[in-house]
Amino acid sequence: MGGSALFDTFARAPLSFEKGEGAWVWTTDGEKYLDFASGVAVNALGHAHPRLRAALAEQADKLWHVSNLYDIPVQRELAELLCANSFAERVFFCNSGAEAIEAAVKTARRYHYARGDVDRIDIITFDGAFHGRTLATIAAGGQDKYLEGFGPKAAGFIQVSFDDHEAAKEAIAAPTAAAVLIEPIQGEGGVRPVDTQWLRELRDLCDEHGVLLILDEVQTGIGRTGRLFAHEWAEITPDILAVAKGLGGGFPVGACLATEEAAAAMTAGTHGSTFGGNPLAMAVGKAVVECVLEDGFLDEVNRKALLVKQGLAAVVDTYPDLFETVRGAGLLIGLKCRLPAAMMLSAVRDEHLLLVPAGDNVLRFLPPLNVSDEDIRAALQSLDRAAGALSLDAVQTNGQ
Ligand SMILES: *Cc1c(COP(=O)(O)O)cnc(C)c1O
Repeated sequence: MGGSALFDTFARAPLSFEKGEGAWVWTTDGEKYLDFASGVAVNALGHAHPRLRAALAEQADKLWHVSNLYDIPVQRELAELLCANSFAERVFFCNSGAEAIEAAVKTARRYHYARGDVDRIDIITFDGAFHGRTLATIAAGGQDKYLEGFGPKAAGFIQVSFDDHEAAKEAIAAPTAAAVLIEPIQGEGGVRPVDTQWLRELRDLCDEHGVLLILDEVQTGIGRTGRLFAHEWAEITPDILAVAKGLGGGFPVGACLATEEAAAAMTAGTHGSTFGGNPLAMAVGKAVVECVLEDGFLDEVNRKALLVKQGLAAVVDTYPDLFETVRGAGLLIGLKCRLPAAMMLSAVRDEHLLLVPAGDNVLRFLPPLNVSDEDIRAALQSLDRAAGALSLDAVQTNGQ
């Protein structure tokens, strides 16, 4: 891996996978791993789902790309499906989460601009947030480790601390405030849920001051938390929403959803994307959303989420020296560790279970939404074995 022709931007685990089925992946050496990472909440329906394979193959036989110079029927159909099942009335398609956030920020600023409020450019964000790696989205995330060495931080992003409600209120009341941008549950930040009451209060504050509410549901969207979108749990709606990861089930796609009013100023020529809404991405995205919206699918996600959470709670009880708490919603579950999460991550990998690290010393469990009970039990057993081995090590080390 050293000496490869690739940028060194990723600290990769020494594993190469060549095939997958359901929640399982196989390495080039034929070793089998249980995939509760799902490509960071991307493979929403697991690997090689028959309906997604069929949707992709069928579209691949017909037409790959024409660009947004023309009408793309399947793009309209996916937009209509998303709108029929959410707050949204308009959709802009792109190719990633960061691009969906960029579109959301541009939409919010342009909304105020078109109303003559040209000073309303500030986007209010929260510490611990993650919104992507483009120049604007690292400014939105506000984390020094991602900003360092990349020139001036893009202007117009104001960050307040996660729990400082007074600071947020003050920022929203400022005449330069354009929008609040928040993840209903911080994913990369360590599966930190935003308090439901506070989310409702933020909605009210935005309304009171003519500020837009943008939700970053890049990770929480498309059934991940047991509802189509996580904000449904709080019974509020945003003005603008960014979604990506799970939407394509593994095919790169992102989308910015908005109300008619919020999107009104995004007229012809104001924004664009060569690949956004490409027929291949749209065909797969449509199949994913149709599966997630099928009767009983989200009930099953919630039932399985309870199985995972109960299982993890039992592991926390057994190894209080290694783990602290379990948190999250649906199948976006965080296990807060006492020992370094990286150590636990490699210990479970030795047991052939794939998880994802997050901030705040948390390990994320992100199984496919259609994971089987049997695979959940297998994952919990792997975790238990890994914890047992580490716990024993600790006892032996302390005893020496
Ligand atoms: C992953 C993620 C992004 C960035 O998505 P990319 O597709 O990597 O650009 C933005 N926001 C949240 C909440 C994410 O989890």
